[in-house]
Amino acid sequence: MPPGGRMGGPIMRGFMTEEEKESAPKITFALIKRVFAYLKPYWKQLILVLLAIALSSVLSLAPSILTGKIIDEGIVGRSMRLLIIYIVASFLTNLGSNMIGVLESYINNWIAQHITYDMRNQMYGHLQGMSHRFFTTNNQGDIITRMTSDIDGVESVITNTFRQILSNSITLIFAIIAMFQKNWILALLGIAVIPLFVIPTRKAGKTRWTLTRDAQDCNDKINGILNEKLSVSGQLLVKLFCKEDVEMENYRSVNSQMVKLNIKERMAGRWFFVVLNTVTNIGPMLLYLVGGILIMKYDSSLTVGDITVLVALLGRTYMPVNSLLNIQVDWMRSMALFTRIFDYFDMPREIENAKDPITPAKTTGRVEFKHVDFSYDPDRQILKDVTFTLESGNSIAIVGPSGSGKSTIINLIPRLYDVCGGEVDFDGVDVRKLDLKYLRKNVGVVSQETYLFNGTIRENLMYAKPDATEEDLIKACEKANIYDFIQAQEAGFDTMVGNRGLKLSGGEKQRISIARVLLKDPALLIFDEATSALDSISESKIQEAIDPIIESRTSILIAHRLSTILAADEILVVKDGEIVERGKHSELVGLGGVYTELYNTQFKKINEL
Ligand code: ATP
Repeated sequence: MPPGGRMGGPIMRGFMTEEEKESAPKITFALIKRVFAYLKPYWKQLILVLLAIALSSVLSLAPSILTGKIIDEGIVGRSMRLLIIYIVASFLTNLGSNMIGVLESYINNWIAQHITYDMRNQMYGHLQGMSHRFFTTNNQGDIITRMTSDIDGVESVITNTFRQILSNSITLIFAIIAMFQKNWILALLGIAVIPLFVIPTRKAGKTRWTLTRDAQDCNDKINGILNEKLSVSGQLLVKLFCKEDVEMENYRSVNSQMVKLNIKERMAGRWFFVVLNTVTNIGPMLLYLVGGILIMKYDSSLTVGDITVLVALLGRTYMPVNSLLNIQVDWMRSMALFTRIFDYFDMPREIENAKDPITPAKTTGRVEFKHVDFSYDPDRQILKDVTFTLESGNSIAIVGPSGSGKSTIINLIPRLYDVCGGEVDFDGVDVRKLDLKYLRKNVGVVSQETYLFNGTIRENLMYAKPDATEEDLIKACEKANIYDFIQAQEAGFDTMVGNRGLKLSGGEKQRISIARVLLKDPALLIFDEATSALDSISESKIQEAIDPIIESRTSILIAHRLSTILAADEILVVKDGEIVERGKHSELVGLGGVYTELYNTQFKKINEL
């Protein structure tokens, strides 16, 4: 969206409110320096652009100056030769100016594209490093807007805003010099009208700024709705709750808000130009009047050609002045864009690799929780004094009511979050001191919500091990009990899984994600068993896949099924973020506590299904 384009400037809403003023970015030297740092790698091309802009701006004034000669020396002087020479010269300089403009536009676009390329890469890299918390708390629509339209906006800042500032300043300076060379009285007179622009332009500029922000917020809102409600799961929810009418109404309301804002923006810009055009007309008339008086009454050396040149040059000054004043808004908007982008860049990476990360000599998969406390928000503690040890080769089943903190416990192991108190050790080292890549490579998670990328089964499996051979794939799929299914598909491993794997059943997806994690071959396997009821065939297929894995690997399972629980070496019973019971099934079932209740209400029933 070009700064001067959709964000055209209105006058209808008066001045900015205090609150809106506060939301305008503070333009500091540090901010400008940071923006210009992006231009630095392209300084050679920038010098070329600068030269081209200067040359093209100066040449663009030549036809106006030559007009005087055409009139005075050609027409009034009755010289056919000079008339033709000046007309051809005027034509050629105009052509030259345009040709240089084309070259300048090419280099300018080249620079803009390369800067946005750099920025997009930087932003994507930065976002990849953001924590899990960042993605769970920020709206996906906002993140995408930052990556797409905000960075695209930067391109137009460079191709339009920066360019206009340069070319208009140069044209203005040269035009004023040329005017003074012709006649200082008329030059001063023309320039005297310029301040008349300032007041209406400033006012309109402020209003345009407010509308720009409103329109951007509205756009974010629309993006948010589209992302959420037109996603597969969003649509499913809308359909199943019969919310089509409510959603339509919501969308219609934001859409109509957008329409109103757009109309306001455009109309305000239109009114602004009505005022400006009226003011610009005063200048030439004054020049004709005073110029006429000077020639007729004072027998000045001024010629008709001179007055024509002055009027033409005056026309050339108003455009840049007008543009430069409008640019104040574009400049503010551009800086707002950069501020929004930099805000993201400045968000600290919550989970970072340690300064001198440790890579243990021996990978065992041993996990130890030492008095771990954790909370997502400061005012609500989720985990309290969680302490347990998982020895290498053993398995632990975590059970507990919904919301008790089971997923939170396992999220702390691959450092999706860091503990608030206590310590989580992996291979005998605090996970915060371990090399993050080493840690995440050695911890494999099969989550409840299996996520498959839109691609083939093979692509999804090889995401875990890009150099996997066909044999590796088959072995992993056999272990995960999904190979028969894949073989039965016409395209085999090359079967498309659909958007987020939705062409597959829940059970098939789970088994593919088990195969994927087996290919990764981590030292510790974490399995978050699906709570959703699968049909008994899928259920038993998953069970057949998991049981031998538990036997042979260091693993932690969030368990909902009796057979998984029975296969584990130790059961941890979690309630309200605390481990309230621990031991084997046989020891716990008769205690009459939380486990007994869970057994009677959940495990027994599911097992009986
Ligand atoms: P379930 O069996 O239903 O999956 P759980 O035992 O795994 O539940 P957790 O997901 O660990 O429970 O959640 C523990 C508590 O922390 C819940 O009260 C939940 O609302 C809260 N919680 C979970 N994730 C977040 C988050 N990202 N931000 C804030 N609170 C959260």
